[in-house]
Amino acid sequence: MQENLYLTFVFLLVFLAFFPNHRRVVKMRLMDNLDEHWMNVALEAAREAADIGEVPVGACIISAEGALIATASNRTITDSDPTAHAEVLAIRAAAENIGNYRLIGTTLYTTIEPCVMCAGAIVNARISRLVYGAADPRYGAVDTHFGICSSPLLNHRLDITSGILTDRSRNLMQDFFRAKR
Ligand SMILES: [Zn+2]
Repeated sequence: MQENLYLTFVFLLVFLAFFPNHRRVVKMRLMDNLDEHWMNVALEAAREAADIGEVPVGACIISAEGALIATASNRTITDSDPTAHAEVLAIRAAAENIGNYRLIGTTLYTTIEPCVMCAGAIVNARISRLVYGAADPRYGAVDTHFGICSSPLLNHRLDITSGILTDRSRNLMQDFFRAKR
């Protein structure tokens, strides 16, 4: 009997010690699943870019309420427009969709780390969170170079998550450039 009480006490202690942490882990897992879900939407857009001979980068934007408000693929060659990167096109479409030039509370998913231009557009749009798949060792301007989305010199900073479905994003790029050679 006394042994049972002792065991219950130990169990309670262990439970109390781990419960808050456990809840955080569950929340993180849910976040990861959601991030993977939306990154898959961005990856689908990246594949569409590859299909028309564009560098395979895709992006999508999710509203504060969790709804998909824009999807875009890279279209620089197709549109003869050096600014037609997936992120910029997604920002334009999302702003038009909600009728507001500020995308406060939104999350932008993109398969590859944004360049200087896109990182700047993301800051100007006041996007709240950026999630990207693979780092871009050459042009990445978020974590690799410049740190544009977290610069104290700018008036807006956002949450940044990287490493979501990284291999798939990177493989799309590598396959594309390998086929070109
Ligand atoms: Zn860009």
